[in-house]
Amino acid sequence: MMSQSHVIKSEMSSSLPYISHGKGIYLYDQDGKKYIDGCSGAVTANIGHGVTEVIEAMNKQANKVSFAFKTHFFSEATESLGKKLANWAPGSLNRCFFVNSGSEATEMARKVAVQYWQEQGFNKKNRVISRWMSYHGNTIESLSMSGHVLRRKSLSHLLKDYPAIQSPYYYRCDEDVSLKEYGLRCANELELAIHRLGAENIAAFIAEPIIGASGGAIVPPPGYFKRIREICDEYNILFIADEVMTGMGRTGKNFGVDHWDVVPDFMALGKGMTAGYTPMAATIMTDEIFDVIYYGSGEINSGHTYSGNPQSTATALAVVKYIEDNNLVRNSFRQGEYLREKLTELMNKYEIVGDVRGLGLLNGIEFVKSKESKEPFALSAGITKMIIEKAFSKGLIVYPASGAIEGRAGDAILVAPPLTVTKDEINQITSILLLVILEVQEEVSLKTHDS
Ligand code: PMP
Repeated sequence: MMSQSHVIKSEMSSSLPYISHGKGIYLYDQDGKKYIDGCSGAVTANIGHGVTEVIEAMNKQANKVSFAFKTHFFSEATESLGKKLANWAPGSLNRCFFVNSGSEATEMARKVAVQYWQEQGFNKKNRVISRWMSYHGNTIESLSMSGHVLRRKSLSHLLKDYPAIQSPYYYRCDEDVSLKEYGLRCANELELAIHRLGAENIAAFIAEPIIGASGGAIVPPPGYFKRIREICDEYNILFIADEVMTGMGRTGKNFGVDHWDVVPDFMALGKGMTAGYTPMAATIMTDEIFDVIYYGSGEINSGHTYSGNPQSTATALAVVKYIEDNNLVRNSFRQGEYLREKLTELMNKYEIVGDVRGLGLLNGIEFVKSKESKEPFALSAGITKMIIEKAFSKGLIVYPASGAIEGRAGDAILVAPPLTVTKDEINQITSILLLVILEVQEEVSLKTHDS
């Protein structure tokens, strides 16, 4: 039957339940069904749903003023948020520019990187190097930087740049090298790409500290990002860390890069920064970059209608305060360890669970035909979709991360509950996952018997 809805959904013919309300890690639809938000929506609702302190702060700001345009007024909430994020960020990452989405945050970093070089007379330094198996956003420019084969596919003729190097993915490395050596090898690919393209043409390198939706929480080898930083410094290339998913405590530290004590030149933030209470994101840059522009043209020639509007900044400020007041970064680290322990038990039990990985509460499970050979399922078998749908019907929401193997195969999910999650809630998540995986494994083996 033709859809009666006046709203266009991404999957146009899908019929989704209507959301009613949410509290903590739970969401409720209008029929009264309860769901565990096992992936914080799109790894976004980091403090859980219906947090009173944030709702009160939103009301308070709305009662004063919701919108005042950025060229007419500045606001206390906006200044306080900038200061807070600067305190959270490492090194001299002290200057924030506010945008509305993660895509805009990575694109903004890309634009300012080019401007930084232009201000110093390096007009050819325009190109950005990125990695295959990455996602930096959905605008044409941010998608150009993304190495997500499936998402690029239909628009590839419009995309300007393309990724130039591989991401480290040790689980699928079939050579006999140590993790450390593999990490260095992967990082050194950046140097090779710089030689091929010419440092004089390259403005920046962009990477997700831990690969999110395009790989399923793939953690880089230790030493990888240290070497990346060294190469960027040696060839005068700025390093943009896309912390849209990994930032604000999601991985058990303030930011993903903090796991290796690496300080990038830019960080793109989004998602957990406002935890879904308002659509907002930020690009943070170092004092050094800021100064070159401040004492140069003195102008950032970019921005959006809603950049830094008081309603959103007051909301984000309340979210970040809530994370601090409730020690959620620490909780993310501790509960993440517990969650991985439980997921590893599943891995040991089921043939189709090939790998469990992650840091803090950003975790991935990769599904394979055989644990020993690591042979992936055909994409057409739809294993990720099967897992997601079965989990959803049992009241657990998890996030798909399929197609990591050059867009041709690769089944994985993200398990990334709100940072407020408790041990008991983790047990609820893993006991549903256990049933789901058992069912899928049985169905898969029945099919293999039949054919
Ligand atoms: N970068 C990363 C690492 C992301 O995970 C995402 C969103 N999944 C984006 C950028 C784009 O963010 P948005 O959807 O808010 O534009």
